[in-house]
Amino acid sequence: MKRAVVTGGAGFLGSHLVDRLIGEGVEVVVLDNLITGDLQNLEHHFGNPSFRFVKQDVTEFLYVPGDVDWVFHFASPASPVDFERYPIQVLKVGALGTHKALGLAKEKQAAFMLASTSEVYGDPLISPQPETYWGNVNPIGPRGVYDEAKRYAEAMTMAYHTFHGLDTRIVRFFNTYGPRMRMDDGRVVPNLVGQALRAEPLTLYGDGQQTRSFGYVDDIIEGVWRLAHATFHEPVNIGSDDERTIANFAEAVLRATGSASAIEHRPALPDDPRQRRPDLGRARELLGWAPSTSLEEGLERTIAWFRSKGI
Ligand code: UDP
Repeated sequence: MKRAVVTGGAGFLGSHLVDRLIGEGVEVVVLDNLITGDLQNLEHHFGNPSFRFVKQDVTEFLYVPGDVDWVFHFASPASPVDFERYPIQVLKVGALGTHKALGLAKEKQAAFMLASTSEVYGDPLISPQPETYWGNVNPIGPRGVYDEAKRYAEAMTMAYHTFHGLDTRIVRFFNTYGPRMRMDDGRVVPNLVGQALRAEPLTLYGDGQQTRSFGYVDDIIEGVWRLAHATFHEPVNIGSDDERTIANFAEAVLRATGSASAIEHRPALPDDPRQRRPDLGRARELLGWAPSTSLEEGLERTIAWFRSKGI
């Protein structure tokens, strides 16, 4: 039986990865300090002998007894609201946390995967963004704490690969959504879905012409699973390339919820990327992977989940 450590396993993406690993017969140890993670995301695994949860700040020394085959470093607050609430923790988990997770992988001779982000491209000047694009990042802006931490994390991961020969992977996630997103994380999916369900106005920041490409979480985790089995050390974009303006996304939320909410414009956020869409060529070629869930289908499942939580 394979054994995996998942840092941030109580979070949105982390907990979906844990579900997949357990479903594939992998034994899982989750390390999470729960600042943005939620144990409710994992409660269905408690009592399973293949699952263990340790409340642990991964910026501290990590000790995990026994063999480990994979370390998935998925811990980090990840929404723009979190960057304001937890700027130092974001920097620490990307820098110190990545170092500790790499150290654990090296000690165990385990394969390592870094959850990186499209934010390494900053406010990109080219579109779609291929992995070879170096980005356009403001290091001292409101997103700098996350962008620079993840850029440092990628550099550290590559250094462990080239210097220590560690078997590493870097996945760059684009906007991902689905069940278990935090209602209060401030991102556009929970914000707009929550507002639509509560019959409040939908808040659009700026002119709403900025774009994002929303990937449904099950597709994204399939990409992660395939990348874990590939031998490739450079970054791989995993996301959807169905690019939408935020105004168009708001319309999709109104249609999917049947809400009659109005749309209300708010001031634009500083350094808000104007466009974001992955070039998925590498993932297609390397993993034979492409997202398959339409935005409409994914929104329907996400909305059903928020409704089941009483929203
Ligand atoms: N956004 C919005 N209304 C909201 C929340 C977000 O118009 O209530 C916009 C935000 O300005 C950004 C996009 O939606 O352009 C996606 O924001 P999110 O916070 O989900 O993540 P980002 O992709 O910016 O990291």
